[in-house]
Amino acid sequence: MLTGYHVAVIGGDARQIEIIRKLNEWNATVYTAGFDQLNESFTEATDLEFDSNQVEKLDAIILPIPGTDDSGLIDGIFSNRVIQLSEEWLKKTPEHCQVFTGIANSYLKELMVKVGRPLHLLMNRDDVAIYNSIPTVEGTIMLIIQHTDYTIHGSTMIILGLGRVGMSLARIFDHIGADVSVGVRSSKAAARVHEMGLKTIDMNKLDQENMECDILINTVPHLVVDHHVIKQLPSHALIVDLASKPGGTDFDFAEKRGIKALLAPGLPGIVAPKTAGRIIADVMCRIVKEKVRKENADE
Ligand code: NAP
Repeated sequence: MLTGYHVAVIGGDARQIEIIRKLNEWNATVYTAGFDQLNESFTEATDLEFDSNQVEKLDAIILPIPGTDDSGLIDGIFSNRVIQLSEEWLKKTPEHCQVFTGIANSYLKELMVKVGRPLHLLMNRDDVAIYNSIPTVEGTIMLIIQHTDYTIHGSTMIILGLGRVGMSLARIFDHIGADVSVGVRSSKAAARVHEMGLKTIDMNKLDQENMECDILINTVPHLVVDHHVIKQLPSHALIVDLASKPGGTDFDFAEKRGIKALLAPGLPGIVAPKTAGRIIADVMCRIVKEKVRKENADE
């Protein structure tokens, strides 16, 4: 339980709704900003008044998963209100106030250093990334079904990268019946691909590899799906690029060759906001509870 714990949830998307629900369930005192256009109202949440003394009570602030923009503005899909996360405002929070976000740009990171409040980047955590890979794979399946006229079963598929997302993709698409090859750059990852009964593509010499396939999924956040790769794809092939923006595909060249290529960011929040919100809320609550436990033990 988070009784007596004061949390402000500022901006965001449907994932934040689930986080607010969870915080209410755990009896936290919740303040919200950026949800004024939401049809549903949170009876147990109070509107955050930035100029009031609420700020002095805050134990945690939850920002949207993408954090802020380059000037500190916080985006939210449930409000037209422009919310600015400023140094002056953050300095009014208690020193122990923790700030949670999915990812952070240099503006947010530098701001947090200036104000000296702990910043938690949830998407950097292995546990969050692995749990999140589940809705990411489901979203990828959805996109492939929407954009092809052939079954995944029996298709030749190349997955680039065997990280937290790549591993889940490789396993699930193998189970669905695709003929899966995985592009990796280390001998350790190559051994894992072999152990999984899949074929290996050596990304250290991608220009010498056969890249012909029906479906190519990229998880590597560098330009790897280049001219050489795209030239080998048949006209019916589909590229799904999951890597963070701008992805790892030469989209202009794919378009010139008439190959459909999709950059598909943020799938968990699109296909399963409830699950994605729960994943974040659960991990966040674990971090907070651990901190509270340590503080109690120190007293
Ligand atoms: P990860 O665990 O860090 O895995 C990244 C993979 O890329 C690893 O296999 C890594 O190989 C490989 N890699 C990195 N740089 C490379 C390079 N220059 N050449 C060849 N391989 C390289 O990351 P993840 O959690 O799986 O996430 C992958 C990407 O998907 C990230 O950009 C993430 O932001 C994004 N993502 C997107 C969605 C979505 O909805 N679209 C959802 C979740 C994550 P090594 O192991 O050898 O380093």
